[in-house]
Order: sequence, then C-alpha cells, then structure tokens
Amino acid sequence: MRYFPIFYNLEGRKVVVVGGGEEALRKVRLLLKTNANISVIAPLLHDELASEPRVVWLAGRFAPHLLDGAALIYSAEPELNHIVSTEAKLRGIPVNVIDEADISTFITPSIVDRDPVVVAIGTEGTAPVLGQGIRARIDAMLPVGLGDLATKANALRAQVATKVPHGNRRRSFWQKFFFGPIRNASLAGDEESYSRELNIALIDEAAPSIGRVSLVGAGPGDPELLTLKAQRKLQEADVIVYDRLVSPGVLEMARRDAVRISVGKTPYEPSPKQSDINAILIREARAGKHVVRLKGGDPYVFGRGGEEQAALEASGIPVDVVPGITAALGCAAAIGLPLTQRGQNRTFTFLTGASEDGTAKHDWASLAKPGSAFAIYMGVNAAGEIAGELLAAGMAPQTEVTVVENGTLADQRVLSTSIGSLWEALQRAGVAGPAIIYVGLSHAKSSADVVPFPTREDIASDILRAAS
Ligand code: SAH
Repeated sequence: MRYFPIFYNLEGRKVVVVGGGEEALRKVRLLLKTNANISVIAPLLHDELASEPRVVWLAGRFAPHLLDGAALIYSAEPELNHIVSTEAKLRGIPVNVIDEADISTFITPSIVDRDPVVVAIGTEGTAPVLGQGIRARIDAMLPVGLGDLATKANALRAQVATKVPHGNRRRSFWQKFFFGPIRNASLAGDEESYSRELNIALIDEAAPSIGRVSLVGAGPGDPELLTLKAQRKLQEADVIVYDRLVSPGVLEMARRDAVRISVGKTPYEPSPKQSDINAILIREARAGKHVVRLKGGDPYVFGRGGEEQAALEASGIPVDVVPGITAALGCAAAIGLPLTQRGQNRTFTFLTGASEDGTAKHDWASLAKPGSAFAIYMGVNAAGEIAGELLAAGMAPQTEVTVVENGTLADQRVLSTSIGSLWEALQRAGVAGPAIIYVGLSHAKSSADVVPFPTREDIASDILRAAS
C-alpha cells in the first residue's frame, strides 16, 4: 500500500484549487460536500460558483504565498502544475495535481456518498475501470437512507449509553439498529414503526449482561476452512482466548478491538496450565464478556474442549460449541488423500500418539491388522516407538505412511514413506511443525499427477539453485 487511506477533517479549513477549467470545477463541486473554505485561483470565477458563499476567488494570477495556511491543494492548470506542486511540497501541504500522479502527494479516491457514511475506493491509479466497477456495486448495495440512519444513531448514542450496558448487549442493540427491523422501518420512512422497534430493542437489551463462552474450532490453519458460524463468533467476540495452533490468518478474521489472550502451550516451555485457562475463561465470562475460546481443529478432538466445557458449566456459565475441521480431515483434503476407500478400509481411527505420561498406549494388535487405517495426532516425537509397537504386533513394514506437516498452510510439507522407515524418514525431513501421521492409506492409484513432495533439503537446494 503506497497510499494510506484516511478521512481528513476539512471543517473550516482552507483548501486551494488552482485552475478555472472543467476539472477544477469538478474538484470544487466535490469539496462543496465538506465544510471547507474553498479558495480558487483562476483567471475568472466560474458562474456556478459566484453565488456560493464558501467559495472565495482568491486571485486571477498564481503567487506562492496564496497557498499559505492551506490544508489541501488541488492543481488543474497545466502551465502552473509544476510550480504549484513544488510550492505545496515546500510548505508541507498535501497536493493533488489532476492526472499527474508523479508530482502529487495524495490522490482522491472515488467515493460512495451516504453522508456521514462514506466509502472510499482506490486502486492507486492502477485500474480505474476496476475502481469504477467496485464503486458502482457498492453504490447499488447501500440504500439512499443509510446516511440518515447513521445520523439518527449518532443522536441516540447518549441515550443508549445510559440504558444499555457496554459490551455484547450494546453491540447487539446496534446490530438490531443497523441490520434489523429498526433499520427497515427507518429506510422505509415509517417513523411510527421506527419508534416502536427502537423502544422494543432498548428494553430487550437493557437487562444486565450475562457473559458466555463459545468453544470454537479454528480448523487446521487455512482461514477459508472456518465455518460461517465460527467467523460470526469471531466478529462478535469481546475476548478471544486462543492456542498456539491457531494460525495468524484465522486471528485476522476476528473483530479488531476484541481483547486477545494467548494461552499457547509450547513444548519444552512454561505454558499456562489447563486450570489457569479455565480460570481465565470463567473470569472473563463473569465480567459479562462474550468469550470465544478458539482452538485448533475441532474443540472436541484432542483439544480438551470437554474439560473446559465441564469447568464452565460447573460455574454456571453458558457454553456453546462450534465445530471445526479437525487436522486429520483438513490435511487429507489438502493433499488429496481419501480416508476411506472401497477395498482398502472400512473403519478409520483418530488416535493420539502422546498422553500425559509419554507415548499413548493402544491396542497395537488390532491396529496392526491388514485393512486397518488411522491418523495419529501428536505423534512425531513418539513415532519411532509407535512404529516399533506396530511392527512387533505384525504390521507389514511396507505399510504406507503419509505425514503432513503444517497442513493447509503455506508451509505445508508432505512425506510419503512406510511404517518400517517412518522414524528415519522423519529424522531426515526434520519435521518440526504440527503433523498428522496417516497409516494404512494409499494415494488414489489414478492420481498420476501426485506432486513429488520436497524435503527441507530439497527446498534449500532449490533456493540455492535459484540464487546462483
Ligand atoms: N483439536 C485439534 C488437535 C489438537 S492436538 C484438531 O482437531 O485438529 C495437536 C495436534 O493436531 C498436532 O500435534 C498435530 O498432530 C495436529 N495438527 C493440528 N494442526 C495441524 C496442521 N495444520 N497440520 C498437521 N497437523 C496438525
């Protein structure tokens, strides 16, 4: 972004427009939407402007000192553009030269005007037709009475602040105001329904606020794998308590002014205990906050969601759960690996490689049987031990194994190996991110276009090759 969009207060400020032609007139018309004092420097003042009290004909001829004290300058007079630009820059005043971006310091966006609601659109001059197309669509989307609705909201602000408690209640009131029946009545010009709906909403939302916690599945990483419900919860949250596995891309989807609390558990580092996390959730909910407890994948799959839910319920705090795409499902889709296939497997198991006291214990004999297929979560560190158990229980060493690290993210890596070589293959690839290990699944035989999966060394040598 070379140009930073801002909304600039021109109330009572001097704005200079140099030029008497059609372009200059257009800028003056646009500026007349503000309360700026508009000074025109042009051989003659256009008839249309002569009777406009906020337009002053400063001079017929340009002189640099005429720019003094201006908040903005527009120049639309080809012979003067360079000097105006230079003098403006000397004075530190933002200047826009019509059709000459290289001597301008700002550009004017195209706008959709529902004053005080204003949408500004810019393409930094790269794609004017695209900009116009976007403008037209937004224009069609925003009802004419929207500005009026925003003005009414502003007038109501103090009243709402005394009646409706701060936080999710207040937000819920404004949701109804801007997107529900109050808005519809206002846009339809039906003042009677407007007052009635307004009073109903004020009464409904005035009750003291009760906090609640939503356990929300963030999916494996790619933000597009969030559910619509998860996305809405992220937009409504007052507080977001999230894990290390939640990707930055997913956090981006959250309401900007939500408080974010990281409770990431990082291996080998001091991390919050589960009881501390529960205490945070209870504290925030008791303060009336809508808390989103954002967890990687699905909250109920190896995520201790059940424990958090029980602790909250025991404290009388309402809890709801939004499922997420669990890593074993997300990673499989990301690499085109079917989890069940006719003739291959009739069941599929999700299991964890780790437990509180080391490698998890499983019924290795039944997992080792032909036709068995499963995904191991948290299994990288114990992979050697797990492979040993499976081989000892009779699993064929050539049984196919696929490992997906950082699945669905930009740095996803895939490793195809066998149970007999799993440990070695993991060591060679240096898997460090979260990874799912699939055992007993074969890639669809028809997929001739399976991409070879690079190891870290392959990537490093590619980079070296590209650099040399
Ligand atoms: N609740 C989560 C699992 C948490 S346990 C879920 O439903 O997915 C943490 C384990 O999940 C990791 O050790 C890893 O095995 C797996 N995992 C999570 N995100 C992953 C990703 N993006 N790619 C590969 N594995 C992932």
